[in-house]
Amino acid sequence: MDDVAERWQLLAGRIERACGVVGRDPATVDVLAAVKTQPPDRIVAVLAAGARILGHNRAQELADVAPAVRASWPGPFENHFIGALQTNKVNQVMRHVSCVQSVDRLELAGKLARAAMRDGRVLDVFVEVNSSAEPTKAGVRPHDAVAFCGEVAALEGLRLRGLMTVGANSPDQGVVRASYEVMAQLSAEVRASGLPGTAEATELSMGMSGDLEIAIAAGATMVRVGTALFGPRTVR
Ligand SMILES: *Cc1c(COP(=O)(O)O)cnc(C)c1O
Repeated sequence: MDDVAERWQLLAGRIERACGVVGRDPATVDVLAAVKTQPPDRIVAVLAAGARILGHNRAQELADVAPAVRASWPGPFENHFIGALQTNKVNQVMRHVSCVQSVDRLELAGKLARAAMRDGRVLDVFVEVNSSAEPTKAGVRPHDAVAFCGEVAALEGLRLRGLMTVGANSPDQGVVRASYEVMAQLSAEVRASGLPGTAEATELSMGMSGDLEIAIAAGATMVRVGTALFGPRTVR
């Protein structure tokens, strides 16, 4: 078994235990493999291990690796975009992904919606929320999240699947937990808002290698995992 396959098994164990603690079914937590800086052969290894969702951060890197991965992995999987997305990169990214998790402004949502309509398809999107209010983080403010989700969900060509956040970057687990609990609360508010297209926005993408147990306890339906699957990233 190669190291990625072994790490995949360890990760599955972590998710199972985290679910056990709070009485959740592990089948309700998807894994997105965060593949930034990984070469195609390592990405194929994580698909071979069992991953079915890949998360990409950069448009150029996505364009570089996606064709090679597709060519050597015939099975089903999804590419999601999880990084900061400039509007001039929308068309490049749309060629490769079924979902953009980092929608944080209406200009971007509109551009994605028009591109999807032009291609005769529906693009899955998540709204990114800055749940920790750290100034360096992307995402809409929690206070604005429900109204913004309504605006995004109203756009033809997009299907709002849920919310995404990068949790608080803090050694204090209480602070991290609070940021994830804000997200769970917002998710419920979005679905209860009655705004068209929001009732099905059930996904909650949160939790990374270092804090996925906390996110699962708070209700994550998708954890985004890089280093726990691939080892420490080396700068390319
Ligand atoms: C890299 C990345 C992750 C995974 O982080 P790890 O700590 O390596 O698990 C998750 N989400 C986003 C948006 C990322 O850029």
